[in-house]
Amino acid sequence: MKQQCIKIPKKKGEPARRALLDFEILDNSLKISSDKTFLYLPLSREPLPHELEDLPLEAELAEFDFELQKKKATPADILAFNPAYELIGDIALLEDQDLDSQKASKIADILLLTQPNVKSVLKPLTPVIGEFRIREFEIIAGEPRTETVHREYGCRYKVDLSRAYFTPRLSTERSRILSRIKEGDTVIDMFAGVGPYSILLAKSKKPAKVVAIDKNPDAVRYLKENISLNSAENIEAIEGDAREEAKRFAGTADHVIMNLPHNAYEFLDSAVLLTKQGGIIHYYGITPEDDLFESSIELIRIAAEKAGRKVEVLEKRVVRSYAPHQYNICIEAKIL
Ligand code: SAM
Repeated sequence: MKQQCIKIPKKKGEPARRALLDFEILDNSLKISSDKTFLYLPLSREPLPHELEDLPLEAELAEFDFELQKKKATPADILAFNPAYELIGDIALLEDQDLDSQKASKIADILLLTQPNVKSVLKPLTPVIGEFRIREFEIIAGEPRTETVHREYGCRYKVDLSRAYFTPRLSTERSRILSRIKEGDTVIDMFAGVGPYSILLAKSKKPAKVVAIDKNPDAVRYLKENISLNSAENIEAIEGDAREEAKRFAGTADHVIMNLPHNAYEFLDSAVLLTKQGGIIHYYGITPEDDLFESSIELIRIAAEKAGRKVEVLEKRVVRSYAPHQYNICIEAKIL
């Protein structure tokens, strides 16, 4: 099977393999191959520029015809159904909140048995709730903890899921925002959580400065730890209310990230205040299918007009489905 890969001299193969594992982009469904001189490491996605930089100098992107790995038993093979779960670091979160305890334990045992990367299995007891957007969990099996380290695009995020918000489901969205940032930009992440937007952007070395704000003290404690863990530079982590902090950074932002989809509209005045002339607001919302964008665009327009400014909508898109007939959307608006 033809697949994109890293081609590397054999003697540099092991550090490259470990780096790809670390970035979670080594495709384990294919067999690593070699010829006399080179090792060919199959990739599950295109590496980001900072990931390529972290590989040994001799590494190059290539294509190779790989053999498939022998298939190991999956949870679905044993259970005769595919259990829905989300993997955050080494914690599996069961998605079906209505599972009875016997079925939940059975699934958890099979996950621990067949998935070497799963060390604990949790069941959420509540949806994501409250100002800090967190959940309560029941530990079903495995190591009794809610803290883990999740890897994404070559960055590591430590988080206690019962104390701070984190979801890997926004990883594609984060890389999309990264593609919008130009060298030297100032980025203000108004609702930064444990840092998955801020740290990825800062690690790309493009922005001059990232200001990462969150009101949840636990999230900011992890944010600061994650800044060190990733040796990210040019990030200022601030524990505080985004509305209050915005006053200090008025008119400085080329990009404002508003990832608080249920309530971002309440902070639009502050987001407008933060933007430079021509700065871009990345606005997230949860909207019904019959009004995906228009009411939100109107709210952005009203906030801009109150400040004597104009809006040019650059892009609007659905990020993911959120609930029946409800979508998580993103609007990118230039504030003139
Ligand atoms: N951007 C992060 C991510 O993608 O993982 C976190 C997003 S989470 C949906 C929203 C975050 O906003 C939470 O961490 C919450 O604590 C924070 N938050 C809520 N109200 C806030 C406010 N008034 N000022 C600053 N942060 C706030």
